[in-house]
Amino acid sequence: MVPGMMLPIAPWPTAAVVVLAFSTAWAWQDPQPGYRDTPKLPDGWRVHDADRPRPRVVDAGPAGAPVPPPADAVVLFDGASLASFRGRDGDAKWAIVDGAMQVNGTGDIETKAEFGDCQVHVEWAAPSPAKGDSQGRGNSGVFLFGRYEVQVLDSFANPTYADGQAGALYGQKPPLVNACRRPGEWQTYDIFFRAPRFKADGTLDQPARVTVVHNGIVVQLDEALLGATAHRAVAKYEAHGDKGPIRLQDHGDPVRFRNLWVRPLQLERPAAAK
Ligand code: MG
Repeated sequence: MVPGMMLPIAPWPTAAVVVLAFSTAWAWQDPQPGYRDTPKLPDGWRVHDADRPRPRVVDAGPAGAPVPPPADAVVLFDGASLASFRGRDGDAKWAIVDGAMQVNGTGDIETKAEFGDCQVHVEWAAPSPAKGDSQGRGNSGVFLFGRYEVQVLDSFANPTYADGQAGALYGQKPPLVNACRRPGEWQTYDIFFRAPRFKADGTLDQPARVTVVHNGIVVQLDEALLGATAHRAVAKYEAHGDKGPIRLQDHGDPVRFRNLWVRPLQLERPAAAK
C-alpha cells in the first residue's frame, strides 16, 4: 500500500459481497453438471448423477505414432477411404482431412461388416481449440453392436457427469481415471468386448463385458454392461444376434478419427447359443 493511502471504508463487508457474488455466479454456471432426478443404477448412483465423484486425472504422457494394425486385424479406416462404413442415407459422408475422418454433421456412421466378440483399436482427437462445455465439447462415441457406447468426449478440464466422460460406459459406469489428453492431441482406445449371450427365448443369459484402455491406461476392467446405452434412463437389454456393426457417433462436434481396426475374437459360446 502507498504510504498515507487510506483504506476504503468498510473493506470487509465489501469483500464479503464480492465473494458472495462470485460464488453465486459460479454455482449458477453449474460446476458439477448432471442430474438428481434420474433413476438409480444397481450400484446406487443415479444415471448421470451430479453427485457422483469424477475420476481423478492421470497424465497419460504424450501422444504416439499410429499403432500398426496386427496381421490378423480388419482395418476399418486407413486414412483415405470411408468404404468400410455406411452413413445415414447410404454412403458415409464424413470429411476426410489430413488422413483422418472428421464428424461433419452428416450423422452417425457404422461399419458395413459386423463383429461379435472383438478387440477394437480407435484413435481419436477432440476439436482444438476446445469449444462448448460438458457434453457439448468433443462428444462422439464408439458403439459396439451399434448400441453399447464407449463415450468419446473432450474430458480435458471439462467437467461433466462422471458416467458421461471420456472412457465411460455412457450412463452406466465412469472410467476408473480420467486419462484424457488435451484437445487436438491423438488419443487411443483399445476396447476388449465380449458380446452378451441371450437364451433361446430372448432373455439375457450373460451380460456383455467390456475392458477399455485409454491412452495405455485401463479405465474399464471387465465391466458388465447393463444393456443398450440410454440417456437419462437405466439401460436394458434387447436380444440381438451374435454380431453387429460398430457405429461412430455424430454428436455435432468435429471429432476426428484415424487408424481404426478390429480383431474378431474366437471365444466360447454357451451350448444354447450355438
Ligand atoms: Mg457420445
